[in-house]
Amino acid sequence: MSRASALLSLQQIDDRIATLIADIASAEAALRGDPELDRLRAAEAAAQEEHRTRGSGAKLAELEAASLQARMRELDRRLYSGTVRNPAELMEMQREVDVLRAKLSTAEDEALELMVQVDGALERLRSASAAVATREAQRNDAMDPLRARLATLTAERDVLDAERDALRAETDPADLSLYARIAAHRRPAVTGLAGDFCAGCHMPVSNEERRAVRTGSGLTQCANCDRILAP
Ligand SMILES: [Zn+2]
Repeated sequence: MSRASALLSLQQIDDRIATLIADIASAEAALRGDPELDRLRAAEAAAQEEHRTRGSGAKLAELEAASLQARMRELDRRLYSGTVRNPAELMEMQREVDVLRAKLSTAEDEALELMVQVDGALERLRSASAAVATREAQRNDAMDPLRARLATLTAERDVLDAERDALRAETDPADLSLYARIAAHRRPAVTGLAGDFCAGCHMPVSNEERRAVRTGSGLTQCANCDRILAP
């Protein structure tokens, strides 16, 4: 294997390892927790709170209506009991009954409207709970395959780590540092020829350099982009 080909192999292994590290990190994160499930649980808790608040509001409105009704009944009873005979007093009581009736009607409407809102909140709570249950079931189903995937990825990374160590051990340290220096700012650092051009920057490569890439034992770099040219 030429020196450039060795660096090209090393680059392929490095790239694959970088991908594996990212995949392993995301598999580990998925095993640790599920942000979507957290979001759905928070939404469920909020729906629960909304249902509770609206429920107590509706309860209060019902109590208010019931108390107005009781006062009105009491007044009605006195009005028709015959114990009050003074016309002015009777008129005043009748007026009070009318006021109470109007208040009661408003209070009943409000209580009804609040009950409708409680029903809506209950509907939202049920759908939020269903979304949590669905997501939890999906997550439970995904756990085993996810663990298996993590094991596969980790095993592949271990094999490639060993391959990379072996390849680096048999590569000239000066070649390794040249590769590292170029890879730090250009990816890929090692590239091939595309006809008469550098496959990295698409600028022409001279005849002499192309011959050196194909036959030479040394490393040839693109005069334009600095990349190492591999046959
Ligand atoms: Zn180039």
